[in-house]
Amino acid sequence: YRSKARGRGGYTVFTPDMVETHKRKLHLANAIEHGLKDDEFIVYYQVKVNGEGMIVGLEALIRWQHPEFGMVMPSEFIPIAEQGGKITAITQWVIDQVCADMPTLKGWLKRRFRVSINLSGHDIRNSSLFDTIYQIFTRHQINPEYVEFEVTESAYLENFALSNKFFKRMSNMGCAIALDDFGTGYSSLSYLTQISIDTLKIDKQFVRELETSERSQLVTGAIIDLAKRLSLSLCAEGIENSFQWDYLISHGCDHIQGFMFSKPVPLEEVIAMPSQFDLPQLIAQQSQPDKN
Ligand code: C2E
Ligand code: MG
Ligand code: MG
Ligand code: MG
Repeated sequence: YRSKARGRGGYTVFTPDMVETHKRKLHLANAIEHGLKDDEFIVYYQVKVNGEGMIVGLEALIRWQHPEFGMVMPSEFIPIAEQGGKITAITQWVIDQVCADMPTLKGWLKRRFRVSINLSGHDIRNSSLFDTIYQIFTRHQINPEYVEFEVTESAYLENFALSNKFFKRMSNMGCAIALDDFGTGYSSLSYLTQISIDTLKIDKQFVRELETSERSQLVTGAIIDLAKRLSLSLCAEGIENSFQWDYLISHGCDHIQGFMFSKPVPLEEVIAMPSQFDLPQLIAQQSQPDKN
């Protein structure tokens, strides 16, 4: 467990734990392609609701049911896929899977909705992405107005010119665009006047701190205000309790996503949900002390 890297005497000691982590990383990196072919990946869906508790959209969130490691989360394998040049294959697979699920979702939710798909910064730098998406939509006969793409604020800004061009085309085709994890990366807001997006997603970091931090309340209020002035729609993620719900809805947030309503679940579980939540009942439940 030694490497001749650095440290006193020129050695770094790798603990057995670090070696295991490294092995797991290598293994995952090499197993992505096979995993995609062998149906080890699955798309989960998390509902988004409006102020009346009506389901207005879903976010597609990928999971990896690994035969050896069990459920592997995207926060672990997406960065590995990005580093190993495997993200394009994953993104294509997710878009294809969402399109394949679309008829079932339409049969369940008999109103307009959008399914949101996350894109990585690497996807935007891939010049054939637009054509790929267009082909998948055509093959599945998907109306682009049922789809939204989410890209993090930082991924958008790292590739600013490319992002502008790409998302403008997607927007013209009828897709909606949301800036994910808004407020966590950049201090300058001037770029907001130059881009064609529809929605800002308030990061769950702000939502988590709402109850305890007056500053988080002020920042969240300011983000909502800013979005309204720019005629953007607002979605907050990570809502777990009725305090957060009340604060966000009373300040004009349009859409809410969080464990208070549902965790991300497989397609069969989504379509077993009612298309509108019983808000008074949910809020009463939330205000009861934890029974654990
Ligand atoms: P994200 O796009 O910001 O997705 C929201 C994350 O917050 C999800 O984590 C979701 O499960 C979690 N979340 C939602 N509501 C709550 C809540 O009330 N409490 C808490 N504690 N968490 C909540 P998840 O599914 O683990 O995904 C993590 C990140 O992985 C995503 O963040 C996204 O950046 C990335 N990701 C997921 N699926 C894909 C994908 O298909 N493609 C790409 N490129 N990235 C993906
Ligand atoms: Mg997202
Ligand atoms: Mg987010
Ligand atoms: Mg996030």
